[in-house]
Amino acid sequence: PIDPWHIGGPVIKGFGRGSKVLGIPTANLSAKDYASELVEHPSGVYFGWAGLPTRGVYKMVMSIGWNPFFDNKEKTIEPWLLHDFTEDFYGEELRLIIVGYIRPEANFTSLESLVAKIHEDREVAERALDLPLYSKFKGDTYLTK
Ligand code: ADP
Ligand code: MG
Repeated sequence: PIDPWHIGGPVIKGFGRGSKVLGIPTANLSAKDYASELVEHPSGVYFGWAGLPTRGVYKMVMSIGWNPFFDNKEKTIEPWLLHDFTEDFYGEELRLIIVGYIRPEANFTSLESLVAKIHEDREVAERALDLPLYSKFKGDTYLTK
């Protein structure tokens, strides 16, 4: 287990590369604003809880890093909230408590294999977050203020 850590801020526009089209929308936070937290945490896939103070608290699985498949030049913070929303929430305050680490970043030989791995990550996150060790953070007031 890792030491849980917190980040929060407004949801920004990402590259719009069609993660939504793949069924994997990610509510990006500004990596620049969290540079000091990011040096302490390696790139990779994490899970935890996401709070949108006007909407609720949701499970999330998150990529932090360079997204080798897409050859990004800048690091990104990209949580996928495991909930079906009927509308976008760009600009809204998003609070994250990151409680677990799944795997380092990896490259993939096809988009299909990348998407399949992300769905595996999602299942790992869904199940882990039901464990008392991780579910206890769901009620943290940081998520809802
Ligand atoms: P971008 O490149 O701008 O981040 P995405 O294709 O990753 O675009 O879509 C992300 C946006 O979709 C989020 O900023 C949010 O407003 C919206 N969204 C809708 N449902 C979700 C979800 N379940 N998880 C994360 N973002 C979502
Ligand atoms: Mg995104």
